[in-house]
Amino acid sequence: MRVAVLRGPKDLVVEERPAPRPGRGEVLVRVHAVGVCGSDTHYYDHGRLGRFVVEQPLVLGHEASGVVVEVGEGVPATRVGERVSIEPGVPDLTCAQ
Ligand SMILES: [Zn+2]
Repeated sequence: MRVAVLRGPKDLVVEERPAPRPGRGEVLVRVHAVGVCGSDTHYYDHGRLGRFVVEQPLVLGHEASGVVVEVGEGVPATRVGERVSIEPGVPDLTCAQ
């Protein structure tokens, strides 16, 4: 699969990487469209956004849509073919916020 990798400020390359396999409770999505978030532009222009500093290659494009093509353990097979949109933030459920 092709990914846009930011290696540093204004250093963006397209690379081929192996497609991931979905783990337990996960699905694999064939991405059809992806947005450019304001955070992506900060990472591209400045290599950082506030306290988050890009210190290693970063795959850009975290707001996407596509179709589920594979499911991991514990996910019903009926999810394959489902159209989805993605905001992949993982909540920290250990604090009040
Ligand atoms: Zn965003």
